[in-house]
Amino acid sequence: MFEEMIKTPIIRIKDEIIERYGVDLYLKREDLTDPWISGNKYRKLKYNLIDAREKGFHTLLTFGGAYSNHIHAVAYAGKKYSFKSIGIIRGEENLPLNPTLEEASVNGMNLHYISRSDYRNKTGPEFIENLKKQFGEFYLLPEGGANMLAVQGCTEILTPDEKIFNHICCACGTGATLAGIISSLKGDKKVWGFPVVKNGAFLKDDITKLLMDFGHIIYDNWGLITDYHFGGYAKYDYNLISFINRFKKKHAIQLDPIYTGKLLFGIYDQIKAGLYEPGEKILAIHTGGLQGIHGFNKQFGNLLA
Ligand SMILES: *Cc1c(COP(=O)(O)O)cnc(C)c1O
Repeated sequence: MFEEMIKTPIIRIKDEIIERYGVDLYLKREDLTDPWISGNKYRKLKYNLIDAREKGFHTLLTFGGAYSNHIHAVAYAGKKYSFKSIGIIRGEENLPLNPTLEEASVNGMNLHYISRSDYRNKTGPEFIENLKKQFGEFYLLPEGGANMLAVQGCTEILTPDEKIFNHICCACGTGATLAGIISSLKGDKKVWGFPVVKNGAFLKDDITKLLMDFGHIIYDNWGLITDYHFGGYAKYDYNLISFINRFKKKHAIQLDPIYTGKLLFGIYDQIKAGLYEPGEKILAIHTGGLQGIHGFNKQFGNLLA
């Protein structure tokens, strides 16, 4: 299980819009980690699943929204590595299932819906005890898979080949992926997190805490760029959609509207604003998330090519 250390390719984005500013942009294709457990979710699950196996658990339980990449990844990982999986989903059941939950269900995940108010209390000990009464013993993965073992997995995203870059940029939900990247660089380079939620500045404290818990060191070579949330989590506008479609047409690479589309839009915008020095090399992390596109198109009317 997870014997091999996966190393994903890096490609150069050739685009006259950015070449005009004298900077080089590269994309790390973490979307190619695994055909089914894509992107940073693969990294975040790796050491959790090894831990679950070592401790003798047979069932994984986790939480998420109805379109969650994490839920989708846990269902696949459960199937691939022979765990039962339980997904506690926020909100009411909607039939037919959306593509994310349909695939999770086909992969054997037992879906269980709870109200939004219960969902807010989902980490309370009483709530967890009740889940144990209902489902038996399970290995608990937090929402979004954000824990120390996830940070550890994300320290494996970058390899020594990435030494040539000046800036590393990554989308942030919980910030665990960014924390792993920052830890692995040990103060080298500039690392920029792009929160996909509104008022994402609070993530500074969350990420600092993750860094302290994981490596007991706070680095100062990183920051958050909070201007590219497009109104909040899973919110979008037509500029974002046309950017994603143009990027795909030009580079034959699919971005998703929740995370990587916002990240690349933000990087392009910053390059055009002259925020990177000519000659600098920027590495953007493609964290995957492409499973969500089918559901996004179904919900909002085939906006993405
Ligand atoms: C979950 C996810 C993220 C956010 O990762 P965090 O570790 O929670 O910050 C970024 N990109 C994609 C595609 C994701 O699915």
